[in-house]
Amino acid sequence: MQRRKFIKHTGIGFATLGIFRDLAKLKSISEKDRGAITIATWNNKKAVMAAWEVLSANGSALDAVEAGARIPEEDPLDTSVGYGGYPDREGRVSLDASIMDHEGNAGSVFFLQGILHPISVAKLVMQKTPHVYLAGEGAKLFALENGFEEQNLLTPAAEKAYLEWKKINKYSPKIGPEQHDTIGILAKDRSGRLSGACTTSGLAFKMHGRVGDSPIIGSGLFVDNKIGAASATGLGEAVIKKVGSFSIVEMMRNKMNPEKACKKAIERLLDIKGSSEFQVGYIAMNKAGETGAYSLRAGFPYVVVREGKFELLESKSFFDKK
Ligand code: ASP
Repeated sequence: MQRRKFIKHTGIGFATLGIFRDLAKLKSISEKDRGAITIATWNNKKAVMAAWEVLSANGSALDAVEAGARIPEEDPLDTSVGYGGYPDREGRVSLDASIMDHEGNAGSVFFLQGILHPISVAKLVMQKTPHVYLAGEGAKLFALENGFEEQNLLTPAAEKAYLEWKKINKYSPKIGPEQHDTIGILAKDRSGRLSGACTTSGLAFKMHGRVGDSPIIGSGLFVDNKIGAASATGLGEAVIKKVGSFSIVEMMRNKMNPEKACKKAIERLLDIKGSSEFQVGYIAMNKAGETGAYSLRAGFPYVVVREGKFELLESKSFFDKK
C-alpha cells in the first residue's frame, strides 16, 4: 500500500515535471519565434547582413532573401554566382535562380544569359506571370521587357580562368571545394513569414545548356511556411536526383530538427556513384526558428543572423575529408 502510494505520488511528480518541461520548451520556441532570422550557404556574410537589414526594418522575408542573393550576384570576385561567375565550356555565362515566398508561390529562371540579377527576374516570374519556370531566351526577353538591361557578365578574371581551363579542356563536372559558392538563403521575418532564394552560375565550364538544382523547386530550394525551408549547394545533379530541399522540409514536417533533417538528406546521397568525390551542402530552418546544416564532405561553412547577431558556423559532414 505504502509502496503503491509512493509510486503514484512520484508518477504525478514526474508528470508535473514533464508539463513544466513542455511549457519551458514552448516558451523558448515562442521567444525564438518572435525573432527574425536569416541563414545562408558558405561564408556569405555580406549577403546575410543585407538580408538582415531588410528584416530589422520589419521588411518581408521575401525582400530579405532577394536582397541577400543580389550581393554575390553583383560581386565580380564570386566565381559561382552572377557577374564574375565562371562560364560554360563555350565561354558563355548562364545563370539559374529560384525564389519562394511564405504563401508557397515560386518563380525560377533557367539558363539566363546577360542579365545581372537572375533572382530579381525569378521574383518577377513569380509575381507577374502565371508560371513558375522561364528558361533561356524567353527568360531573357521577359527580363528585358521588365526593365532589366543586358550586360556582359564575363569578367576578365573569369575569362582568363576559362582560357586556362581550355588548354586542358577536360570535361569533368565534379565539384571541389574551390568551385562553388552558390548562395542559398532563407529568412524568417518578424511576422513569422518564411521565404528562400537560391542563385548560381552553376558548375564551372559546364556543358552549354546545363541546368543544375538551384532553379528547381524542391531540389535547390523549398519553402513551406507551416514547416520550414531548405536550400542546397554543391553538385546539382546529385541534389536533383534526391529532390534534396523538399525531402528536408518533409523530414522537418515529421518533427526532425533542421540539422538532423539535413544529415538524413546527405545520407541519401551515398548511393549515388562517386559520392565520396563530390560535395553537397544543405541548410535548413524550421518554423520555430531553429537552424541547421550538414554536408557530404568537410569544409562547408554557413552563416546565420539571429536578431542582429551574426555567426559563421562550420557544418558537420559525413566524410571528414575536404
Ligand atoms: N548547385 C550548383 C549547381 O549544381 C552549383 C554550386 O553549388 O555551386 O548548379
